Amino acid sequence: MKIKKHLTTLIILISLFIFQGCMMTFTFIKAMESYKDEKTVFVVFEGIYYHKASCKEIKKKQKTGLPRREAIDQGYTPCPVCDPDN
Ligand SMILES: [Zn+2]
Repeated sequence: MKIKKHLTTLIILISLFIFQGCMMTFTFIKAMESYKDEKTVFVVFEGIYYHKASCKEIKKKQKTGLPRREAIDQGYTPCPVCDPDN
């Protein structure tokens, strides 16, 4: 009987531990996502893509910097040349 009680406690503790681990991973992923969202990307007038500052496609153009999240909200998509999401 006593062993069974300990076993239950142990199972609860292990479950809590696993749950906490999941929550930490989740928080970490969320933090990484928001970090990506706040990363500054660059768009050009009448362009449809958002770029890295170093992209050759926008090198000689007048560019505007804005957070990645905002660029996506405004309908811009990642540039296939500079791949700003990586
Ligand atoms: Zn680009």
